[in-house]
Amino acid sequence: MAIETKGLTKSFGGPNVVNDVSLQVPIGSIYGFLGPNGSGKTTTIRMILGLVTPDRGEVAILGAKEPRLRQLQLSRLGAVVEGPGFYPYLSGFDNLKRFAQVAYPAQRKLNPATEKLSVKQINAGLERVGLLEAKDKNFRAYSLGMKQRLAVAAALLWPRELLVLDEPTNGLDPQGIVEVRELLTSLRQQGMTIFISSHLLSEVEITCSHVAVMSDGALLFQGSTRAFRGTLGDLFVLETENSGLAKSILLQLGFVDPVSIEIRQGGLSAKLVTDKIEEVVAALVHGGVGIRAVSRSSPSLEQAFVALTGRSGHAR
Ligand code: ADP
Repeated sequence: MAIETKGLTKSFGGPNVVNDVSLQVPIGSIYGFLGPNGSGKTTTIRMILGLVTPDRGEVAILGAKEPRLRQLQLSRLGAVVEGPGFYPYLSGFDNLKRFAQVAYPAQRKLNPATEKLSVKQINAGLERVGLLEAKDKNFRAYSLGMKQRLAVAAALLWPRELLVLDEPTNGLDPQGIVEVRELLTSLRQQGMTIFISSHLLSEVEITCSHVAVMSDGALLFQGSTRAFRGTLGDLFVLETENSGLAKSILLQLGFVDPVSIEIRQGGLSAKLVTDKIEEVVAALVHGGVGIRAVSRSSPSLEQAFVALTGRSGHAR
């Protein structure tokens, strides 16, 4: 496993904000760590990175536990948690150079070979995140997506096997989101394991091979993205111009899970709680709903998430 935690638990004096969380992040995965605001994602990540001490539980990274963990983190793990403090009036290149000088004194001590990070290495880092052409531009002139990519470049100044990113697409415009998505996919192709927290379910759906879902400090699900969608089973899809009427009939007769109903263009979809589809269709027709088509489809990650947590996936 790239990251393995056992029973991580933390309170800040009150109730546990992270409760008995055991994660298994497979090597080579892009692992999406999901959950509404305040569900304990950042606290968990901070415990994984050794920035917060757990009340209980253990962390192993790439097979290493305390006391070898800190040393390993510096050499094989890159992380962007709060966004490094870049200087607005320095170029991307100069920011990375400064970052290399100040942010990793311990890294240089551990590995004298990195004493001087060469211009070539910094350029290679910029190229990896697609910023080579913009390397002489001032940081403040960068778009949000470029800033985020520079942070990733900083975390990858030395070769890493594992990258941990807290909300890498937070605040990005659609173009920036696409840029970060492509970057993560290409890093994975280079063999890196990537752990990202996100509240953008649609993003995670496209990018991540595995997901974990947190709610109120507890881990509700972890596994492959496909298995996560499977937790909800197939959806009942109805094409009709009378979605509102259909919805009220389905609810009234108790045929569907209320939180799963989604009104779509030209119809609705929902998780049925009965397998008697004939009865459902008959009740709809009887109630005056004009039916154009009935089918099954697999749910979106968003629908599976809402069914699991009872909350909107855009709670933030
Ligand atoms: P998420 O990243 O999922 O939004 P967090 O881990 O940031 O969740 O927060 C989980 C809960 O822990 C929240 O209720 C938050 O207010 C609380 N919390 C986080 N850090 C601290 C802290 N340093 N002191 C007190 N409470 C905290």
